[in-house]
Amino acid sequence: MEIARNNQELEQVLSNYKLNNPGHTIGFVPTMGALHEGHMSLIRQANAEVNFVISSVFVNPAQFNETADLDKYPRTESVDIELLESNNCDLVYIPTVENIYPNNKSNYSINLKGLDKVMEGKYRDSHFDGVCMVVERLFDLVKPNYAFFGKKDFQQVAIVSHMVKERGLSVEVVSCPIMREDSGLAMSSRNMLMSNYEREQATIISESLRSGVKVYQGGFKIDRVIETMLSIFYRGSLELEYLEIIDNTTLQKVTEINNNCTVCVAAYCGSVRLIDNFQFSR
Ligand code: AMP
Repeated sequence: MEIARNNQELEQVLSNYKLNNPGHTIGFVPTMGALHEGHMSLIRQANAEVNFVISSVFVNPAQFNETADLDKYPRTESVDIELLESNNCDLVYIPTVENIYPNNKSNYSINLKGLDKVMEGKYRDSHFDGVCMVVERLFDLVKPNYAFFGKKDFQQVAIVSHMVKERGLSVEVVSCPIMREDSGLAMSSRNMLMSNYEREQATIISESLRSGVKVYQGGFKIDRVIETMLSIFYRGSLELEYLEIIDNTTLQKVTEINNNCTVCVAAYCGSVRLIDNFQFSR
């Protein structure tokens, strides 16, 4: 696996590869590092679908609305490199903040048509502007044919897909399933910030959402589904930020559930903020 630590190194590897392999497809998996099996599932899916897999490890300051959250974000670069290499990633790009934002302040703006005003957007001011800014910049540098994103960040996939359309970019966004621990807890870099006890407590999130989906499958309406999810959630000790059942396309809350709906949740387990979601189906 090649490692590029600045834009020149990235461009060199890319142009060499393209020169020697005309017509080959490039797949891209952007990450913020502290890699785990969830990230690796994206690398594996990319490997199955494209010729050359590039990942990036960049903790993007622009998408953090609290400095404390940015400061405590886990950083595990040497383990990340080992994991990527053992999962047959071809190139990892590990830029500095200056590589990505050479002019420091940016006047980036994008109309996300309100997709950024709900759920995460309500609680994390300008988070999605930061996400779109870095993803667009990374797409510009890497020029992938396909980009792989996890459904774990459900709203992010919707917004990046919208951004790609809005900007007319020639990259196809591929959304990949959520990887979970055996306990049901969605894998996340933030999980390593929790104690074993907290990780156990955090399983109440998936337990409550899964039960709600079962209640829907049993033919019950939205009120009963939400009641079930909340009653299970509050058996635990987590603090709920939001629990919303939304339409997959508009991300707006629904009054009736159908198979194009997802329940999305954000909750604090101690000081660690976790998100998760389950798609409804029956
Ligand atoms: P992050 O490093 O948290 O920015 O995540 C990088 C990519 O990995 C994003 O597309 C995430 O949605 C995806 N990802 C993170 N956790 C998981 C998971 N448990 N299952 C599937 N994809 C994930």
